[in-house]
Amino acid sequence: MNKNIHTKFENQVILPELATDPIEPHLNLRPKCFDDYPGQERVCDNLKIYTKAAQLRGKMLDHCLFHGPPGLGKTTLAGIIAETMQYQFKVTAGPVIERPADLMGILASLEPKTILFIDEIHRLPANVEEILYSAMEDMRLDILIGQGPTARTVKFDLPPFCIIGATTRAGAISAPLRDRFGIQEHLDFYSPEALSKILLRSAKIMNYSVTTNAAFELAKRCRGTPRIANQLLKRVLDFAIVLQKNIIDEEVINNSLKRLGVDEEGLCNMDRDFLQVMYERYAGGPVGLDAIAAALNEEKSTLEDVYEPYLVYRGFVLRSARGRILSESGKSHIEKIKQFDI
Ligand code: ADP
Repeated sequence: MNKNIHTKFENQVILPELATDPIEPHLNLRPKCFDDYPGQERVCDNLKIYTKAAQLRGKMLDHCLFHGPPGLGKTTLAGIIAETMQYQFKVTAGPVIERPADLMGILASLEPKTILFIDEIHRLPANVEEILYSAMEDMRLDILIGQGPTARTVKFDLPPFCIIGATTRAGAISAPLRDRFGIQEHLDFYSPEALSKILLRSAKIMNYSVTTNAAFELAKRCRGTPRIANQLLKRVLDFAIVLQKNIIDEEVINNSLKRLGVDEEGLCNMDRDFLQVMYERYAGGPVGLDAIAAALNEEKSTLEDVYEPYLVYRGFVLRSARGRILSESGKSHIEKIKQFDI
C-alpha cells in the first residue's frame, strides 16, 4: 500500500495522489465528493448521515474504521469525508509508526479539526496502539516522565481530531482498538455497473472516448476493484494510442486484455496460477494457504490480502476449516483456460 505514499515529513505521510495521480501527474482520477464516488451505496449513505449529524451538532465526526480488500476506495472515502467536513487531512500508515514517541509526535502536532488517516492500521505495534486508546477516547495523551518510583504521568490535551483507520484485515485488529471506532464500515467488491461509471469518468478526465459497451466489458474484467479498473484503462489507452484508435470499443478492450493476460472472468496470471496449483498439485484441496504460497513462491499475506478475497467472492475458491477447496466453477474455469490462448 505504500506505493501511494510519496512524501514523508518526519512520521507524517502525505498522499499527493489526492492532489495528482502518481502515474499521470497531470491527471487526478481520485474523486473528491460523494457524487463522484459510484458504488458502496450503503456505506456512502451511512457516512453522509454521520457527517451531516456531526456538522449539525458542531462536533467532530466519530472515529471510523474502513475494512476491505486493497484498491476499493478506503483512502478515497477518507479524503471525501475530509473535503465534506472541511477538515485537514493527514495520512500515515501503520508500518511507518514504529515507536510510541512517533505516534505521540504526530498526535501532538495535529491542528484542530484534522482527520488522521492511518492506513494498514492492523500493522501498528502493540505499544504504539496503546497510545491511541486514551487519545481516541479522551482526546488526551498520557505521557510517562521518568522511571521507577519518581515516574509521573503528564496529561496533554489534544485538539479535536478524528482517526480514520483502514485495513485489509479487520480480524487482525485487537478488540480494544476496534471498540474505539464508533463507525465501522466494510467495503465490498464493486458491481460492473458501478465500475462502468468509474471507468467512463476516468476516460473523460483522460480525454478519451470509450463506448458504453466497451466500458462495461472492461468493468466485468477488473476484479471488482476501481484501482485495477483505472490501471487497466490506462494500459488499454496505450494500446489504443499505438493502434491509432480514437474510440475505445469492445474490440480494443478484448485485444488489449488478451495481451495483458486478463481472461474472460477478469482473472490475472496469479489468480489462474492459484487455481491451477490447487487443481493439479492438490486435486482441488482441501489445502492450506501456506502450501499454495510455497508452490507459487509468493508471500502468504499477499495471497490472503490481494488474490484470495476475489477468488472467494467469485466462488472459485471455498474456505473450510480443513483448508481451501477448489469449487466446481473453479475447476471448470481451469479446464476452460487450458485451451485459453493468452
Ligand atoms: P484503498 O485505500 O482501499 O486501497 P484507494 O482509495 O486508494 O483504495 O482507491 C484506489 C484508486 O481507485 C484511487 O486512485 C481512486 O481513484 C479509485 N477509486 C476507488 N474507489 C473509487 C470510487 N468509488 N469511484 C471512483 N474511483 C475510485
